[in-house]
Amino acid sequence: MTRSGTQIRQDFIDFFISKGHTYVPSASLVPGGDQTLLFTNAGMVQFKDVFLGTDHRPYTRAVNSQKCMRVAGKHNDLDDVGRDDTHHTFFEMLGNWSFGDYYKREAISWAWELLTKKWGLDKNQLWTTCFKDEQGEIAADEEAADFWREQPGIEPSHVLYFGRKDNFWEMAETGPCGPCSEIHLDRGDEFCNKKDTPGHKCGVNGDCARFLELWNLVFIQYNRLSPTKLEPLPACHVDTGMGFERIVSVLQNVPSNYKTDLLLPLMKVIQALTGDSDEERDIRLTPYRVIADHTRSASFLIADGVVPGNTGRNYVCRMIIRRAARFGLKLGLNEPFLAKAAEKVIDIYSQAYPEMAKNKKTILENLTREEKRFAKTIYAGINELQSIIENKKDTELKQITGKESFDLYATHGLPFEITKDIASENGYSSDGDGFRYEFEQHRVDSGAGKIFGRMGGEDAEIFRSIFETLVDGKKIDKQGVTYDPYGLKPVEGEVLAIVSEGEQLDSAGEGEEVELILPKTNFYIESGGQVADWGTIEAVDGTWQVNIIGMRKPSAGMITHVGIVTRGNPKVGDSTVAKVDRERRQDIMRNHTATHLLHAVLHKTLGEHARQSGSLVAPEKLRFDFTHPDPILQDQLETIEALVNEAIFSDYPLVKVEKPLDQAMSEGAMALFGEKYGETVRTITIGEETHFSYELCGGTHVDETGDIGVFIILSEGSAAAGIRRIEAVTGREAYKLIQKRFKILKHIGKLTGSSMEGVAEKVTGISDELDEVSKENHEIKQQLATVEFSSSLNNVPLIDDIPVLSSIISNADSDTLRILTDRFRDRYPSGIVVIGSVVEGKPVIIAACTEDLVSRGIHTGNLVKEIAPLIGGSGGGRPTLAQAGGKDPEGLISALNKVTDYVRKNLK
Ligand code: ATP
Ligand code: MG
Repeated sequence: MTRSGTQIRQDFIDFFISKGHTYVPSASLVPGGDQTLLFTNAGMVQFKDVFLGTDHRPYTRAVNSQKCMRVAGKHNDLDDVGRDDTHHTFFEMLGNWSFGDYYKREAISWAWELLTKKWGLDKNQLWTTCFKDEQGEIAADEEAADFWREQPGIEPSHVLYFGRKDNFWEMAETGPCGPCSEIHLDRGDEFCNKKDTPGHKCGVNGDCARFLELWNLVFIQYNRLSPTKLEPLPACHVDTGMGFERIVSVLQNVPSNYKTDLLLPLMKVIQALTGDSDEERDIRLTPYRVIADHTRSASFLIADGVVPGNTGRNYVCRMIIRRAARFGLKLGLNEPFLAKAAEKVIDIYSQAYPEMAKNKKTILENLTREEKRFAKTIYAGINELQSIIENKKDTELKQITGKESFDLYATHGLPFEITKDIASENGYSSDGDGFRYEFEQHRVDSGAGKIFGRMGGEDAEIFRSIFETLVDGKKIDKQGVTYDPYGLKPVEGEVLAIVSEGEQLDSAGEGEEVELILPKTNFYIESGGQVADWGTIEAVDGTWQVNIIGMRKPSAGMITHVGIVTRGNPKVGDSTVAKVDRERRQDIMRNHTATHLLHAVLHKTLGEHARQSGSLVAPEKLRFDFTHPDPILQDQLETIEALVNEAIFSDYPLVKVEKPLDQAMSEGAMALFGEKYGETVRTITIGEETHFSYELCGGTHVDETGDIGVFIILSEGSAAAGIRRIEAVTGREAYKLIQKRFKILKHIGKLTGSSMEGVAEKVTGISDELDEVSKENHEIKQQLATVEFSSSLNNVPLIDDIPVLSSIISNADSDTLRILTDRFRDRYPSGIVVIGSVVEGKPVIIAACTEDLVSRGIHTGNLVKEIAPLIGGSGGGRPTLAQAGGKDPEGLISALNKVTDYVRKNLK
């Protein structure tokens, strides 16, 4: 009976639990606290900090099944998805982990045991690879190769060596790294899909489908300091990753991941819609595979809170849904259909991933909504692209430019990846870097927010028509909605228009996401690094309320408040009162003014070159990037923090004035690179006479610097080449931080019985005491060992009249053992002594004999050499004194038992 995917996942988890592992649930597809990574793309992402040594877990062995996405950045498998049987955008990675616990021997033998014994894979079909450096700089991983060759039933010629690309794993340019060992499965000659390629030879890491990479075991044993420098880590780790869908295809004995019980049911749902037979499906296989794969990815993404949108992760979600929909068209599916396939995904995965069932409604709604949106523009987009292609037919250039791709996206919502698909179907290439450049440019120009940064083009048309109607009806003037974010008083008005999902509505219902247009607003729109305001808009009569969580400018003169209806039914024409969330705004203002102070202080302490190159002003913190070549030293950082706080305590007034750009510049105001300014600019001066700081800025600020309260730097680091980043908190957050740190200090004080001021001294004292105690401990251990040894000294067996003592002493290090051998020699003028012990889990052996026995054939160096393999180690030394060490404490007794054999054989 074949096992189901669900059972196979559980088999893996149970197997490693039986080997002492703790089950750790999958982390979200959105990596927590890691700005460098768009999606979790391997099992190790959630353990990164453990390997870096900045985090600890209550376990040292873990097992998990991690949700992964490889659709962007360094790991992007999108080009293979749909075209092969083994790569997905979303997949699961099964892993077992050792954090400084077991190492290669166990990892390798357990992998072998699971695959061949538990799951019964044919040993002759399995191949493994080990690391051998083609540059000859890093040691080859003979250790792993030896362990592989020891596995029961393995074919030794199936242990191969490969170089850095395949078998050396690195987390980043520096940091933990090490050799890895992969397990591949030979699926048989019939799987080769390169038979017609001249000169093709099937092989591990080859380019055909015959050999399938199943599992990668990474042995983390080095820390990379620079491109040429590795240092050994104090503790070694194991990180493994097995492709879940691939092992399921093998165990279910099917030739493709898409034929497993994880994905075949999705293909069947689509077949039911198209009416294709299995044969017809296999002729049009690519669209089927893409749709099955992308529906699964999109469902998992939405369950993790990533809904379709225009930037970052949200763009990826939008792109894969639209790409699936476009492939649906190829199968003749013109109506929204992805929700039907997604229901199957939810069925299959809810047991292992309860978030799927929990978010069912959201998943299905988002898919259908996105398909509907796309349906409105897709034909126009594809036609437009076809005519671009047509026009280039007679030219040399067989490429869609970045600008063309971007325009297709901005006006017709055609994601770049679809343009690329269609272009390549017509024999054209497309410029991905050019697209990304245009995309970034546009985002900067429009000052689009991160969450609500829809592309102008997509729904600009409807807002242009709303604008004209409102101007005609004299609801607003030609300047559009009045924008004055500098006051905080509630603003009265009326609902001029309601838009939801690109459609204009007369009224909206509870729970709906809407955009409201009012005649004037004091809600700040994200710009210059300062985030948008939140707040509420309510009916004056109190019948409804909308929670505002974003602001945007969809077209000239139009400003919308983006939010969710939390109560009642807002209607066009209702009288309103709009209230900015005051507390949040005040936090933002403190951070913004503090940013100006920091900028000025950096200039004064580091020099004129330290200029702003990006910033984030949020309620909870501020982030400031600036040009500077080197890390800031700790004492410089302390000075910077102190000077900013000095400026706060000076309680300088802020003067905010509008004036002509020329005048501001000639007065020496600081402008930002890459920022566009109009004729008239707003200037912020801090410190009237002294001009502590003078900048052009449209943001919101406190009235006096004293309002900031206090400023604390959280971190300093590198943001990019030549750019440093400082993060800091002020006001309320700074107070919280101080409280938190005081609490920790108080706690340590309590634990150590000292006052807060005395803690440092007390802890130093405790640490000294600890050193003293461990020294004493060591001495006591030595004494105990001596006592233990004296009793065996009285009772030494003889071989040919020569006393030969071999014994185990508990917990004694090699120094102690050496002292004990002296004791033996003091007592017996002629004799041989061999003592073993286990220290911190590792066996050691010391052997000694008296001088006179050397001429009688005894050589302790040879003796330990002979017995050391039994403890999994090696040894050697002089004729009268030698030492061995190893890894297997269990072998110690048999090693010592062999001493008599040696003496009998060699004593003359
Ligand atoms: P490949 O060379 O097949 O792309 P990889 O070297 O990128 O694999 P690893 O990063 O070592 O793979 O990931 C560990 C395991 O995860 C692989 O051995 C494979 O079984 C599986 N895997 C990797 N990428 C994918 C993918 N896109 N879809 C499904 N499984 C994958
Ligand atoms: Mg890969």
